[in-house]
Amino acid sequence: MLPPRLSRRDRRKAGEKAVAARQERAKVKEQVANGQLFFFDLFKDERKSISRMKLSDLLQAVPGVGQIRADIIFDKTGISPSRRIGGVGKRQLELLRQEFLLIKNSRRSGKLLVVSGPSGVGKSTITNRLRADNRFWISVSATTRQIRTNEVGGVDYHFVSDERFNEMIESKEFLEWADFAGAKYGTPKQPVDEALADGKNVILEIELNGARQVRKNSKDAILIFIEPPSWQELETRLINRGTESKQSTQARLDRAKEELSAASEFDHIVINHQVEESVAELVSLALA
Ligand code: 5GP
Repeated sequence: MLPPRLSRRDRRKAGEKAVAARQERAKVKEQVANGQLFFFDLFKDERKSISRMKLSDLLQAVPGVGQIRADIIFDKTGISPSRRIGGVGKRQLELLRQEFLLIKNSRRSGKLLVVSGPSGVGKSTITNRLRADNRFWISVSATTRQIRTNEVGGVDYHFVSDERFNEMIESKEFLEWADFAGAKYGTPKQPVDEALADGKNVILEIELNGARQVRKNSKDAILIFIEPPSWQELETRLINRGTESKQSTQARLDRAKEELSAASEFDHIVINHQVEESVAELVSLALA
């Protein structure tokens, strides 16, 4: 049977849709190539134009892959080169992840940087300045604490229930996790591995116990401690921040003393007099 004939209007509309889809795909490839988008994130993208994109096109856009390595990956994983993004199954995705890890090991991968220091010292202000710098990737932690009014889920944290957090511990999804001032905080491991494999310098902004776990498990990690100019300044910043209850502020101040006394366990200490200077120091330590 012949396909139904389209009216001129329908043909024009279909043509416009195809152009828009092509443009979307081209943009995505460009973003993957310059490091603004992660290869693996696109498998969660629900846009039709992306799920219909050829895996081989996307793979070749990844920095350090190219046609030859893409052919090797298809050969080793047994995935068909004509496979579309939307047709890649869970197992095939896992095989791709393993191949990416091998690529990571064969070329210079990013560094793992831990930025720690007492609550209120300005760690997130410093690390947030590096969000737009595509040499860096800032890990998004999971936490059981209440979301603050100025925060966005999935950007500042993945806000999860106690139950979900415990499931993540059980299924070993964390690189590290710790209790802090009445809530749990943890670094999801998989995105960190992927970012490192992608050559990014990964920043974990975490408290002391988490930093200790990273030190134990990742010998190459660089641990940076952010110190306040003085105790008084830290106290003022924490109290004036106004984001916490009295009880939580007190818990944070108590913990701050313990954290400050552990500064010597870190590879570098940055005193946060001025945010711009601290950011510059962090960048030079990371790229040294
Ligand atoms: P806040 O509640 O102020 O956002 O964070 C409280 C403390 O938890 C901060 O010192 C912050 O650096 C730390 N933190 C945030 N995410 C993580 C994480 O994934 N793991 C650990 N161990 N600490 C974290």
